[in-house]
Amino acid sequence: MKCGHTDSLQCAHIISRKYGHTRTDLDNAFCLCASCHMHFTDNPVEFGQFTIDQIGEDNYQALIVKRRTTSKMDWDEEAERLTVIAQERGLI
Ligand SMILES: [Zn+2]
Repeated sequence: MKCGHTDSLQCAHIISRKYGHTRTDLDNAFCLCASCHMHFTDNPVEFGQFTIDQIGEDNYQALIVKRRTTSKMDWDEEAERLTVIAQERGLI
């Protein structure tokens, strides 16, 4: 989504994957090549600006709010939700 390369594509989380409530949110990821992913990992301020340029300030703030959710993540429910999405998209 940054350079247009189609090799070595990776999922780059906007909010770190260490936060359960945003880890599998499909709006919390960009598809980046490995080089761009590494570049943004080393340049978080630039990544923040890229993020705002891509999804807008309001959506970025919504992710930050969601990240702060303190309830326990229900991973069984999340797996079911993602399975339905994958089926709808013909991925499984
Ligand atoms: Zn790239």
